[in-house]
Amino acid sequence: MLTGRTRDPERLAAGLRRLGWRVRDEGGRVIAVSPAGQQVEIRDSGELRITGRGEDSAARTLVKLARKLGVEVEVESLESGPRRPLVYGPVPSRRLGRSLGIDLPRGVCTQDCEYCSVGVPRRASPRERFEVDPVPLARELRAALSECRPDAVTLAGVGEPTLCANLGEVVEEITPLVERAGAELVLLTNSTWVSECPPEVDRIIASLDCAREGLYRRINRPHPDLSLDHLVRQLERVSEDVTVEVLLCRVGRVTNAEAGHVRELAGLLSGIGVREVQLNTVSRPPARGRAEAVGAGELARAERIFRDEGFRVEVYR
Ligand code: SF4
Repeated sequence: MLTGRTRDPERLAAGLRRLGWRVRDEGGRVIAVSPAGQQVEIRDSGELRITGRGEDSAARTLVKLARKLGVEVEVESLESGPRRPLVYGPVPSRRLGRSLGIDLPRGVCTQDCEYCSVGVPRRASPRERFEVDPVPLARELRAALSECRPDAVTLAGVGEPTLCANLGEVVEEITPLVERAGAELVLLTNSTWVSECPPEVDRIIASLDCAREGLYRRINRPHPDLSLDHLVRQLERVSEDVTVEVLLCRVGRVTNAEAGHVRELAGLLSGIGVREVQLNTVSRPPARGRAEAVGAGELARAERIFRDEGFRVEVYR
């Protein structure tokens, strides 16, 4: 599979349809199949996934057609030189308004969550860090901000942004641009190295779904080098500045939404000083996992449990 990005997923899908591709809307993503049978998945976030036989030639065809359509498309394997980050969006976000994303990890994550809607191409050890050149990133962000006024600029993308070993340098370079645009700088992370988040970041939203190691391994499917205990210790170091996102779901007969477990999770987070949580459930089809949404009643019960424990709670149903 090859991955890529476009700033304009809607125009790309519409253009491919006009050029004779079969285009199917699956809510959150569009599947486009060329007359030769090559398949491209176009996600609302702008992420592209090219699968099937002859991926390279499919990618080249896509880039050529996109050029004809006047839509910017970039495919990882066709880039020359070292990997570089990419600005995408803005995309509408329930939590953040209009959000311009910066894809730092480009397909590398420490987990392979059952509910992951992007389906990260590669799971990595938390020790496998990468560096990003902040200068071309700032150039790209400046160009994007000259065309739109987002509410937030998010360090996120396909994978885990805190694997970026020089996150501090990246943030230092882009903060003046974000401030000038009047946007909030937000880090979305699975908590792997959340304690390294630089102080210039306005808001940290870090996820933790489970209070038990076994459940964590079942739902979030982390790399063997990553443990729940490590995540909790990371969160503890930034607990006063962080909003913890808890996604409640069901995977077969396993769930993290059961009352006893939610109480345990609330106790764990309260014990390390976290005061704010966001609760949600599966809202997009998982790319590779089997997670299903829990019901409104289970979300409401979890909300009561967290409120009783003294948390500020937001719920996204
Ligand atoms: S942490 Fe996020 S990007 Fe990584 S697998 Fe889970 S949902 Fe996907």
